[in-house]
Amino acid sequence: MTDIKSMTLPELRAFLQSMGEPAFRGKQVFSWLSRGVTSFDEMSNLPRSLRERLGETCALTVPKAARKQVSAKDGTIKYLWELADGNCIESVLMRYHHGNTVCISSQVGCRMGCAFCASTIAGKVRDLTPGELLDQIIFTGKDSGAPISNIVLMGIGEPMDNLDAVLKFLELVNCPDGLNIGMRHISLSTCGVLPGIRRLAELAPQLTLSVSLHAPDGETRTKLMPVNRAYPVEDLFAACHDYFERTGRRISFEYAMIDGVNDQDWQADLIAKRLRGMPGHVNLIPLNDVAESPFRPSRRTAAFQKRLESHGVTATVRRSLGGDIDAACGQLRRKAEKGEDSQ
Ligand code: SAH
Repeated sequence: MTDIKSMTLPELRAFLQSMGEPAFRGKQVFSWLSRGVTSFDEMSNLPRSLRERLGETCALTVPKAARKQVSAKDGTIKYLWELADGNCIESVLMRYHHGNTVCISSQVGCRMGCAFCASTIAGKVRDLTPGELLDQIIFTGKDSGAPISNIVLMGIGEPMDNLDAVLKFLELVNCPDGLNIGMRHISLSTCGVLPGIRRLAELAPQLTLSVSLHAPDGETRTKLMPVNRAYPVEDLFAACHDYFERTGRRISFEYAMIDGVNDQDWQADLIAKRLRGMPGHVNLIPLNDVAESPFRPSRRTAAFQKRLESHGVTATVRRSLGGDIDAACGQLRRKAEKGEDSQ
C-alpha cells in the first residue's frame, strides 16, 4: 500500500497524475489529509471512482487515541497514540500564552540511552514516518479542538536519528496548503548528534535548535548520556559555534538539574567558558521524576542560574507543565503504565 500521508504536495500531484488524474487533485487530497479525514469517502470533492481507487492502493492510516490524560493543574493533555501496526507513542498538548504547542515523538522508543530519561528505557523499536510525525499534530488538534501554532520535536526519540523523515515532515507541516506552520514556530531538540546539526544548519536554518547538554564536562556527560562517547562535548560546542555562525540563530541548551551530579558552580563556569563568543540560552529543567532513575532533583537551581548569569549567560528555569500526568520532559514512554487514568 502507498503511504500517501508521507507525500509532499509535489509528490502527491505527480502520484495522482500517474493515475491519470489532473494535477489539481493533489492539492485537494493534501488539504483533506491535513484536516485529519479518516476515510477517502470524506474527500467529497473527489469523484467517487477516484476515492475508490485511492482506497484500493493507499493506506489511510489513522492514529487511535488509546489513552488521553488531562492535567487538572494546567490543562496539558497527554495522548497515547496507537499506530496502524499496534505500536504506541505519546504526544503532549501544552497551552502557553504564545499559543498551543504540540510536543511530538520522532521514534517508537529511543536508543540513545540517557540515564535519567524514561523514553529510552525499553530501547528503540522503529522510526516514525513523515506521515506519523504529522498526524500527531493533526489529530491532537482535531481531538482537542485547540488550534495548533507551535511544534516541538521533544517527545520520545532522537530526531537526528530519523532525520530524513523529520526533514520531510518539516516540508509537510510548512506547506501553505496544509498546516502552514512556519519554521520559526518549530523547535527541534537533539542529544547532540553532530552530523544532524550540520545538516540542519544547511537545510532548515530558520528552525529553533535545542541541544540537550546536561553537563559541560566529558566525564559527567558520558555518565549521563552515552552519545557523548561518539560525539564528545568539546566537539558538540564546536558544532554549536559553527551552527550559530552559519545560521545566526541562538541555540537553546537544555539542562536537567541533577542533585550533586551536574549542579556545581565549576560546571556553570565551564558552560560559560564554552559558550563564549555565541549567544546561547540555558534552559534549566527541574529533573522530572522517573521511577527507574537513581537521580534526584537538584536543590541548587537558583544558585546555578545566578552563577551562569554572573558570567553573562542567560538562563531560565523551565516552567514544567503536565507533571501530574507524567507528561513532563523525559517522562514520555511508548507504553502506557498500569494504573488509573487521571482526568
Ligand atoms: N532526543 C532528543 C529529544 C528529547 S527532548 C533530546 O535528547 O534532546 C526531551 C528533553 O527532556 C531532553 O532535553 C532530555 O534530555 C530531557 N529529559 C529527559 N529526561 C528528563 C528528566 N527526567 N527530567 C528532565 N528532563 C529530562
